[in-house]
Amino acid sequence: MNTAYLLIGGNLGDRAAYLQLAVKHIEALCGKITSCSSIYETAAWGNTNQPAFYNQAIQLMTPMAPEDLLKQLLAIELEMGRVRSQKYGPRTIDLDILLIDDKVLDTPNLTIPHPQLQHRRFALLPLAEIAPSLHHPVLDKTVSELLVNCTDTLDVQKK
Ligand code: AMP
Repeated sequence: MNTAYLLIGGNLGDRAAYLQLAVKHIEALCGKITSCSSIYETAAWGNTNQPAFYNQAIQLMTPMAPEDLLKQLLAIELEMGRVRSQKYGPRTIDLDILLIDDKVLDTPNLTIPHPQLQHRRFALLPLAEIAPSLHHPVLDKTVSELLVNCTDTLDVQKK
């Protein structure tokens, strides 16, 4: 069994309802969710002319290999109607794998730990709520330490 940490987010429609629905799909298809952070709201990153995002970090116990987990998450994104038209554009749901145990993986489709994790307060803040002492196997720092060192200035508000 693997312990995976995911970030779920979206900025279209009823954002809280979409997060809830994503959690349901993940539980049905990927494993058992053992912890959920609060929901946080962040101004859209990389493209400020769009609605603010809701984000939530979850801890998932899963028997799946990382590539299979990614496939299921992409299927859930599709099922939930995400239109991939524009990089950093609006989306009903975005599912990212942040960390899986101490695994380090770098393939064309999948990089673990997520390469942007340490640069994004909207990912670190919810993750630190549920797993502050979790270890980043590449940077050799805890999530709390990454958060303290993060220079991202986007405002992240707990809802
Ligand atoms: P985006 O829509 O910008 O989040 O990018 C999604 C794509 O990033 C997916 O199709 C994956 O192949 C790729 N990817 C690479 N590493 C990860 C990761 N750790 N979690 C989720 N997607 C990833």
